[in-house]
Amino acid sequence: MAVNPHAQEQIKTIISELRILYERYRAAHAWTNQQDIIGLCIMLLSNALIITTAWLWFINLVPTWFTIVLIAFLTSMLHELEHDLIHELYFKRHKVMYHVMMLGVYLFRPISLNPWIRKYWHHFHHQHSGMPFDIEERGITNGDRFSILRLLVLPDLLLSGIIRMPRLRKEILIEYNKGNLSKNDLRLIIRTVLVGLLPFGVPLTILWYAFILLHLLQWMGYPLPQLDALLSWIYPLMVLLVVPNLIRQFALHFVSSNMHYNGDVEHGNVIQQVQVFMPWWSYPMQWFCFFFGATHAIHHFVVNEPFYLRQFTRKKAQEVLINNGVRVNDVRNIRFANRYHHS
Ligand SMILES: [Zn+2]
Ligand SMILES: [Zn+2]
Repeated sequence: MAVNPHAQEQIKTIISELRILYERYRAAHAWTNQQDIIGLCIMLLSNALIITTAWLWFINLVPTWFTIVLIAFLTSMLHELEHDLIHELYFKRHKVMYHVMMLGVYLFRPISLNPWIRKYWHHFHHQHSGMPFDIEERGITNGDRFSILRLLVLPDLLLSGIIRMPRLRKEILIEYNKGNLSKNDLRLIIRTVLVGLLPFGVPLTILWYAFILLHLLQWMGYPLPQLDALLSWIYPLMVLLVVPNLIRQFALHFVSSNMHYNGDVEHGNVIQQVQVFMPWWSYPMQWFCFFFGATHAIHHFVVNEPFYLRQFTRKKAQEVLINNGVRVNDVRNIRFANRYHHS
């Protein structure tokens, strides 16, 4: 299905107005030319702050809740950097540095999808956003009916994958038979399922459930003193890596899976693919996904700008989008399995 002519005009207008906005901003701020160095510095600073916070927690200078909240916020910046790296916005011609940065943004977000594997699915997401075979978004529950179970599996890719696997498998085969997914896509889906959460995601998520189970057993009156040593070894991993990333992933996956439409949009119609999503009650979540709901729709029109420029110009860019037909704060779509045509 081709994009309708009215939307084509709207998309063209948005892209050209956003390009002018970015050009003007770059012309007025010469520092933006140092893109590689800026990306590297943000990564080093975020990682250094995470390590410092962890050290302060180890020596009992900061409380556990503060450590978790701060690390969750810092890792949200690393996620934006990873996304920029997937679009090759830093060290494009310096492969070693590029992969060092890919590793650097992954290490403290270890329960997320391996970024080298995510790269293919994210580009696929841009090509086919909103379609039932947009694997990246279907992977984080976009298009599912709203339920407590959907909320429960949102932060946890392993649990979500296991519980939703039979349905996703059926859907993928339907899309393959329609010709929307190629043999190569199927091969990559299998690879993603098998190794996408390795080397860190699967072991850490299993440890997380072991941690909960052991605490539950103790709480139910089965003291397991022989396991105390194990628990004291697992505890720092949970506080410093798993829990902050579960919070961050809940926020990101909630915002992302509700700001992208799914299932009934025109193929390639960016106006219908996304919305500006920042209702007041989503603000606590926006802090843990670096205001993804406010800026990701802009990215779908102009992909090759780094996340911090999107933040600095977001007010004007949002106006451009909204004035040209992109929806804003359409929370009703949550009740209608993220369909665009829901009223
Ligand atoms: Zn992107
Ligand atoms: Zn997107």
